[in-house]
Amino acid sequence: LEKDYGFMVRLRAPGGRLTAAQYLALDGLADSHGNGTMRATTRQTLQFHAVRKDNLKSLIAAINATLLTTRSTCGDVVRNVITSPAPVRDAVHARLEADARLLSTTLLPRSRAYDEIFLDEAPRADSGQEEEPLLGPAYLPRKFKIGIAVPQDNTIDALSNDLAFIAVWEGETLRGYNVAVGGGLGMTHNRADTYPRLASVLGSVGPDALLATAEAVIRVQRDNGNRADRKRARLKYVVDDKGIDWVRAEVERELGAKLADPLPTPPFAMPELLGWHAQGDGRWWLGVPVPSGRIADTAEVRLRTALRRIVETFAPDPIITPQQDLLLSNIAESDRAAITALLREHGVTLAEELTPFARWALACPALPTCGLALTEAERVREPIVAGLEAVLHRLGLTQERISLRITGCPNGCAHSYGGDIGLVGRVPGSYAIFVGGDFAGTRLSFKLLERVPQAEIAAVLAPLLAAYAAERQGGEGFGDYCARRGADALLGLVENARAS
Ligand code: SF4
Repeated sequence: LEKDYGFMVRLRAPGGRLTAAQYLALDGLADSHGNGTMRATTRQTLQFHAVRKDNLKSLIAAINATLLTTRSTCGDVVRNVITSPAPVRDAVHARLEADARLLSTTLLPRSRAYDEIFLDEAPRADSGQEEEPLLGPAYLPRKFKIGIAVPQDNTIDALSNDLAFIAVWEGETLRGYNVAVGGGLGMTHNRADTYPRLASVLGSVGPDALLATAEAVIRVQRDNGNRADRKRARLKYVVDDKGIDWVRAEVERELGAKLADPLPTPPFAMPELLGWHAQGDGRWWLGVPVPSGRIADTAEVRLRTALRRIVETFAPDPIITPQQDLLLSNIAESDRAAITALLREHGVTLAEELTPFARWALACPALPTCGLALTEAERVREPIVAGLEAVLHRLGLTQERISLRITGCPNGCAHSYGGDIGLVGRVPGSYAIFVGGDFAGTRLSFKLLERVPQAEIAAVLAPLLAAYAAERQGGEGFGDYCARRGADALLGLVENARAS
């Protein structure tokens, strides 16, 4: 008797863009080949969970038939390329989307193995011998993540990528890209030489050098990344071990040109993308909150059915956000009321009915889906959010933008080492608490406590939030406040609260 394996299958969807027809096809596949749900991820893709082995090949073929693919969504290759999900119809957002598509498509492996194994393509004379001019015969030392942002929209957490391009515009003219390397939020339990890191700015390149620069950085990582120790194989360790100046010199050698100084930019910002927004072309988008990214029906909330009915009836093109939500784009003014009514009919909570805290709370899948999970994340998001919301309510902080990220292990898939509050699963039922990152994704958080039982998280954070409410300066965020006070002072607050 064979084991009853369950697979995870994810899409490659640059910038999280889907068409209405693709979404409906995927929704159907969730029933016929998955567990009746889809999951939106922080890398702007959809995952199918619990796919049985005898459904695997036909699911992948069916996805390809929609003109999407699952190619290079795992393994030591360039993963899904992410960018601002906002469907604003201007030159900036058109270019961001085009750039993400260009890099995603061009940086794929040349091998036809995927086509032959999953799509029944006939082997060619050179099958298995294809040249890989970029990736080389052994591919990359580890997965490689690319993000493209603009300072006014860092919802992709650009600096958490191996390679980040920050597009700098003057009005309708693209001046160029700041190039940052060496981001990555994963770390390994009990390995002090592994750690989360934000990307460092190398310099800038002109508007026509995007692809060549990406290829140069990839070649530097290909030839210098650690192939003996997978836990230290990401580009961030090359940057720290060799130094940023060495990396810059190598990238310039590969590129055959000097990088310019970084272009000046305004501070990163995090726009609100949920709710109704004008696209700028007479149409609208609606950002629909998807708790933990899980597109599913429950007894009370029939979110998946509501989304399917909306897409069937009004044909909006869905976009997956890095906050695990969906933006329904290209909606006519005349359809807005009916779409809102449909969501309400199905018990879906609208964005304006949620606190900012609930809107910006992320959780990775963890148990029972992820084999690396040490404890729960997705399934405990709701009670943890509710417990902290009660504290925020008592303190008059319900309208503050405070971000929460929960992961079931130290791998950081839901960016738990950035943002205002990070909860990182350590052992079943207990979490390390991280604080002191910032809302805009430019500063990592620090560990405050090692193992806090889930039931105590709200009580432990309450004195910190109370001190923040009383002592914050100007527009200081909660993470900024924690960074200013430092770990010792914050731990003193926790101890005092415990003693009283
Ligand atoms: Fe799995 Fe850990 Fe990633 Fe969560 S953070 S999805 S538990 S690997």
